[in-house]
Amino acid sequence: MKKQFAVIGLGRFGSSVCKELYHLGHDVLAIDNDEVKLNGVSDYATHHVITNATDESALKSLGIRNFDYVIVAIGDHIQSSILCTMLLKEIGVKKVWVKAQNDYHHKVLEKIGADRIVRPEHDMGIRVAHHLDSERIIDYIELSEDYSIVELVATEKNNKQTLIEMDVRAKFGCTVLAIKRGSDVNISPSPMDEIVSEDILVVMGHKNDLKRFEAEGM
Ligand code: ADP
Repeated sequence: MKKQFAVIGLGRFGSSVCKELYHLGHDVLAIDNDEVKLNGVSDYATHHVITNATDESALKSLGIRNFDYVIVAIGDHIQSSILCTMLLKEIGVKKVWVKAQNDYHHKVLEKIGADRIVRPEHDMGIRVAHHLDSERIIDYIELSEDYSIVELVATEKNNKQTLIEMDVRAKFGCTVLAIKRGSDVNISPSPMDEIVSEDILVVMGHKNDLKRFEAEGM
């Protein structure tokens, strides 16, 4: 379903969010106070406007309240990012997603009611570290301090094993959410589904259980 997004701040992060949303077929309003930055996304946004996003009346005159999501991607200007987020919540924007620069910024954004806080460099660093820790982990998503989702490459040992034979849930307390084979994705694997080596298993569980599964089950 087509949604209405406004992306404020078109640095590396904001412009990439803007372009991808536009490619996905959504309406995107791009906002920046720097004309050069705006010109960089003009072909990838439904509308683009030069505006200082810390100016309440300017935000209101854009009808910002009516957007489904507003993404605040003002990077280094932490003060502006905080002020803009506060204004958006005061104006009544339902979903405000904000890029945080550091822990201090993150804490303040939580306090003022940001609906989702993203830390792209921080989060990507964690994912890369997990990939480096084990080359068999090709992606890693943290769900909470204890739980995560990982993508693991099936080994020769798993070749022709069914999920029942692997006994992932009973032995390791983990759940196989999906099996990827080339461009095919099986999103509701049944217990009788057979794994082939080099399949990618998307597995959810406690971090300790996932480690155990990777070490002993694969
Ligand atoms: P990144 O780290 O993702 O590259 P940057 O800090 O380089 O992010 O980019 C932030 C963007 O936010 C810049 O394009 C900057 O012009 C814009 N910006 C900063 N302050 C404001 C503001 N008050 N109103 C609108 N845009 C702003």
